[in-house]
Amino acid sequence: MRACFNNFSSLLKKQEKIDKPPVIDFRTLVPEDFEDSPCPPSEENNRNSSIFNLSRKKDALPPVVSQVTTLLCEAESKATAKDFGKSVELLEKATTLGSACAAAKLGLVYRGGVSDVNPDYASSAAYYLLALKLIYMIPNEKWDMSLLLEVIAGLSEIFRNKMQKRKDDDIWMSGIRAMRHIESTLQDPNVTKKFKQGDLQRCKAIRIHINYCLAMTAESDQEYTEAIKLYELCKRIGECNFKTANKLVNKSQSKIKELKTKIPKVKPVCVNCDYEPKELSDIWKLLVCSKCQVVAACSRECLTAHLATHVKKS
Ligand SMILES: [Zn+2]
Ligand SMILES: [Zn+2]
Repeated sequence: MRACFNNFSSLLKKQEKIDKPPVIDFRTLVPEDFEDSPCPPSEENNRNSSIFNLSRKKDALPPVVSQVTTLLCEAESKATAKDFGKSVELLEKATTLGSACAAAKLGLVYRGGVSDVNPDYASSAAYYLLALKLIYMIPNEKWDMSLLLEVIAGLSEIFRNKMQKRKDDDIWMSGIRAMRHIESTLQDPNVTKKFKQGDLQRCKAIRIHINYCLAMTAESDQEYTEAIKLYELCKRIGECNFKTANKLVNKSQSKIKELKTKIPKVKPVCVNCDYEPKELSDIWKLLVCSKCQVVAACSRECLTAHLATHVKKS
């Protein structure tokens, strides 16, 4: 099925004139928050299962799967014939039938735009989130890691280059919640121990993208200590076979350096009288200078004395 879509992305590169943007209501597309309940156990002897398999009614499955397969192939041939409007329509149909693959393709279409479709990062993010939700509904031992990487990398690109947390808080936080669920599954060694080498590499790339986005979130909330921890996690996950993920690992290093300068390093010593509390409860009683935020004082008097040095300097 995936091979059937190989030339989709090459088609997307040939972006021609853009007209007639379809109207998409982002809010109707954002999936509800993921449930915290674990994935349902996989059925035994379920030979028809695939990425499109969402319903667990045995008798209902095969027609849906073949319907989705047909829709995806038709969408591909429409895209090849440059009838992107029709192609999108078919992908939307397949998405409503529960195809994570179709949702991911729509995410790609809206991310870059094609001749009949304007680039629209909100719709793109919405489709990627839908794809994530559909993937998450499948027991994790059946996850298509290539598809998951495609979705996470696409979403991560939107986080890094298109969205601003303040402006797009809704989409941003929906994405973060979804990615946290994926991350908590993939950081479990019981899940990854079954992976072959290729999927292990994809898993690393996915986790780098996710933790980089989590770090960006902490950074924009000015939680610098948390952000540094997450960038450090990106570095610890380490390099993999994927270029963009590796770039993020390198970028994490410079981010850590940059953020360390933003964290005030307050020594637990009074700047004026050198009083050095030993008990933690007394350390907490120290007053941090609001002006320089790098020193503390034991009392109002000592703080006032220190503040006077700021006045002299300026
Ligand atoms: Zn003092
Ligand atoms: Zn000061």
